[in-house]
Amino acid sequence: MFKWEAVPVRGMVTQLPCIPTGCSACCRETTMPVTEAEAKRLSRRTGMQLDSFTWENNGILTLLNDEKTRACVFLLTASSDVNAEGVCSVYEVRPEGCRKYPIVLNPKDEAILDEGCPHRENFPEPSESDAIELLNLEERLLRKQ
Ligand code: SF4
Ligand code: SF4
Repeated sequence: MFKWEAVPVRGMVTQLPCIPTGCSACCRETTMPVTEAEAKRLSRRTGMQLDSFTWENNGILTLLNDEKTRACVFLLTASSDVNAEGVCSVYEVRPEGCRKYPIVLNPKDEAILDEGCPHRENFPEPSESDAIELLNLEERLLRKQ
């Protein structure tokens, strides 16, 4: 999938597993929330109306899945198989939740690696600053910013 990034970890560069493994699991049957600002940016970039790529999930804008592929409407993929490859067509402007994943908050607001990521053991352990970034994102989502 899209999300390969080389990230510095303790002075070394770590290659995340997304592209080397061809994974796009987290873009399938997505429930990824999007802030209002992110949705407007995606709309400007793609020329798509908001309601063609988002829906309101308990008042929070959320990325839509394509009916055929059952994946995020922005995932370029030929298959609905969760193990099939796919590429994010809006990689440069993808929402922050997509950028942070597989780091998520647990019920205690601690940053953890989500069990839904099949390669989570190949990611660096989340830090306190990850938790703060996700809490800030949560606040912007609730405030509809
Ligand atoms: S599920 Fe995990 S390994 Fe797969 S693309 Fe998403 S973050 Fe990368
Ligand atoms: S915006 Fe891109 S990274 Fe985020 S779920 Fe959709 S395809 Fe995946």
